[in-house]
Amino acid sequence: MSIEGKVLVVDDQPHNVKLLATHLNHAGYAVVKAYGGEEALTLARQEGPDLILLDVMMPGLDGYQVTAQLKKDAQTRMIPIVLVTALEGVEEKVRGFESGADDFLSKPVNSIELLARVRSLVKLKKLQDYQQCQVEASSEPEAVQGGDNEFILVVEDDPVAAKNYELILGKEDHTVVMAHTAAEAMEILSQRVPALIILDMMLPDMSGLELLDRIKASNACQFSSVIIVSALDDLETKVQGIDGGADDYILKPVNHHELQARVRANLRKHSLQHKMQHDLQTAFLRATTDGLTELYNRQYFDDAMRKVMAEAHRYERKFSLLLLDIDHFKIVNDTFGHVAGDHVLQELARVMKNQVRESDIACRYGGEEFTVVLPGTAIVGAVALAEKLRTTIEHHPFPDVDGRQITVSIGVTEGKGAERDASMIIAQADEALYQAKRQGRNQVRES
Ligand code: GH3
Ligand code: MG
Ligand code: MG
Ligand code: MG
Repeated sequence: MSIEGKVLVVDDQPHNVKLLATHLNHAGYAVVKAYGGEEALTLARQEGPDLILLDVMMPGLDGYQVTAQLKKDAQTRMIPIVLVTALEGVEEKVRGFESGADDFLSKPVNSIELLARVRSLVKLKKLQDYQQCQVEASSEPEAVQGGDNEFILVVEDDPVAAKNYELILGKEDHTVVMAHTAAEAMEILSQRVPALIILDMMLPDMSGLELLDRIKASNACQFSSVIIVSALDDLETKVQGIDGGADDYILKPVNHHELQARVRANLRKHSLQHKMQHDLQTAFLRATTDGLTELYNRQYFDDAMRKVMAEAHRYERKFSLLLLDIDHFKIVNDTFGHVAGDHVLQELARVMKNQVRESDIACRYGGEEFTVVLPGTAIVGAVALAEKLRTTIEHHPFPDVDGRQITVSIGVTEGKGAERDASMIIAQADEALYQAKRQGRNQVRES
């Protein structure tokens, strides 16, 4: 079984440790055990767990003291801490949050609730670790979040509760927008994407779970964090909510320390996810784009050809390929220098991008050779585009070459979906290109 994460379980009663460890082991977590506060501090430093489940009432250092010490130490500060307590009162929670705990579980611990909380916090920890690596790897860390990271939508029909949210969250400089019905909420969501949605489960026009479904199914809001709020301490709703994609839940009546702590944690998670999304996109772009011309690179071209050929085969659809080569480019380099040559390549790429459609794939094939893949286009359309490209380039003024005319030769070929691999198609286009060169350059030939 793969290890989901490492959890440090702390309780002075060995029986409690064993019980929690069993649940966690079954769910794939590795468990480290401690039976007192001092031991917990040592193991937290030694083992670097992804999460600590910490008993409050212990002889010696109690849970609050251990939390306070761990949160003071730079080495252990980032480890999420869940206090496990039989004490139910608001005061205990306030004390816990003030000492720096991230969450609470009540004894006796329900296994479903335990795993829901653990899963969500371990995920947060891993995002933080990832972020930490990124920061260490890059000399200049980027700004973490996009514009709307402080925008919170509260969906709550009860005016008293709604006012309460406004008061609590307004203090922390968040932009809070209220919706009193599901319909109102959806209207707002169609205009703006919040970082966080606080969602009452009981709404006049739709159940909270149904609205949650719609939020998670929408393209724009799928990455917004959602905290569900319920007056019922019924586990069923919590579990359904977490399964439905909610990140967290709060019970009514809402304690303001708890609300603030959860909002802070979920905004942090949202901003980390946002950053990770951004990094992935950047990495993808870097891997598929040619650095000089910003057209797709050869790697991307190979993948695109495979995909276009498979689709052509499946839907019995034609496609075409253009292979374009600059005429006498060596002379351009020799006359004006390599840097001027580079500028010509960049300008030519811009011209190509302007001429092709959104669905066409323009790539730098290598050196001064380019390709355009035209899905769903037969040879006639492809030759027309090639001719348009050729004449546009012929008349285009290029920088750094003293008004010298730049021309290209283009080979065009059609694929019918029956070809086995891309090299056949490319060879055909290459043959046509060769004809264009041989017959005098600055022309289009097909094969
Ligand atoms: P032809 O009309 O037969 O295509 O002649 P050509 O001179 O364009 O063809 P050849 O293949 O002999 O030379 C291609 C030139 O393109 C040589 C090479 O230095 C240049 N080249 C390839 N990649 C780059 C690049 O990234 N930057 C610059 N400046 N030149 C490049
Ligand atoms: Mg050549
Ligand atoms: Mg050339
Ligand atoms: Mg060439």
